[in-house]
Amino acid sequence: MYRVTFWGTRGSIPTPGAGTSRYGGNTPALEVRYETSNGAEVLILDAGTGVRALGQQLSSNGKPVSVDLLVSHTHWDHIQGLPFFRPFFEPGNAIRIWGARQGGIDLEEILRNQMSPVVFPVPLDSLAAELVVNHIEPGAFELAGFQVRAMQVRHPGMTLAFRLTPVGGGASFAYAPDNELGSGGDYDVPASWREDFVEFLSGADVLIHDAMYTSDELERYRGWGHSSNLEAIEIATEAGVKQLVMFHHRPEHDDDQVDIMVQETQEAAAGSGVDVVAAHEGMEITL
Ligand SMILES: [Zn+2]
Ligand SMILES: [Zn+2]
Repeated sequence: MYRVTFWGTRGSIPTPGAGTSRYGGNTPALEVRYETSNGAEVLILDAGTGVRALGQQLSSNGKPVSVDLLVSHTHWDHIQGLPFFRPFFEPGNAIRIWGARQGGIDLEEILRNQMSPVVFPVPLDSLAAELVVNHIEPGAFELAGFQVRAMQVRHPGMTLAFRLTPVGGGASFAYAPDNELGSGGDYDVPASWREDFVEFLSGADVLIHDAMYTSDELERYRGWGHSSNLEAIEIATEAGVKQLVMFHHRPEHDDDQVDIMVQETQEAAAGSGVDVVAAHEGMEITL
C-alpha cells in the first residue's frame, strides 16, 4: 500500500485567494509515500509551489530527509517551489532529482539558472543538503520502490508522463499533468502517439490528467499544450482506468467553475465505469 498526497493542483501560476481555497492555489507537487519495513520511501512528483509546504512537513521531525524528486518537465509551474524546499537547506539531507534534458540543456543547469543571483538570492551551490541531479529519458526504470515508465507527451519540450507500479506489484497510477490530447500543436511524437498513450495508461487504477480547459476554452487555446475535461474523460474511458483525477486547474477558474467542470465530466463518464474527481490540495489517495 502507498499513499499519494496532492500538495499542489493548479496549473501555470499560483492562485491564492478565497475563490480557490477548496481546490487550492499551489502549482503541482505530489507526495508518493510508500511504507516499508525500513521506514518510509518518499517520491515527489514535480516541484511547483506546493512542494514548499511538503518540504516543511518532511523537515518537521528533525530526522534526515532522503527523497527522490521526479520532474515531468521544467516549465515554471513544475519547478518554481524548489528554491523554497526546506530540506535543501539542512545538512545531512539527501535529495535526488530526476528529469529529462530540455533541448540539450542539462537539468542541473536549468535548476541552477532558476537560482541565478539575478533572479534569486541563494545559489544552488550553497545548499547544505547533498544534491544529485540525474537524467532520465522515455522508457522504464526503477525509483524509490517503484517500477516507473516514462512516456513523452504532447506538450512543448521534453515533457514526460509517468506510470508508477510498486516493484513488488500492486495498484498503479499514471501522472500526466500537462498534455494536449487534441489536434493542436506540433510536437515531436510519432503518428502512433495516441494509441501508444492508451496502451501506456491501460488498466491504471488512477489517472491524474491535465483537464485545464472547458470545451470553449480549448477552441481558443489549441496548440498551447493542454486538454479539456471532456478530452481527459475520453482517454480515461478508452484506456479503461478506474478513476480520473482532473488536474492542473486553470488559474482563471475559481472553485465554482471547477465544480461545474467536475459535474460535466461525471455526466460524460456515466456508464463508463470511470469514477471522476478533481484534485484538491490535501487530497490523499491510498493504493
Ligand atoms: Zn504545467
Ligand atoms: Zn508545461
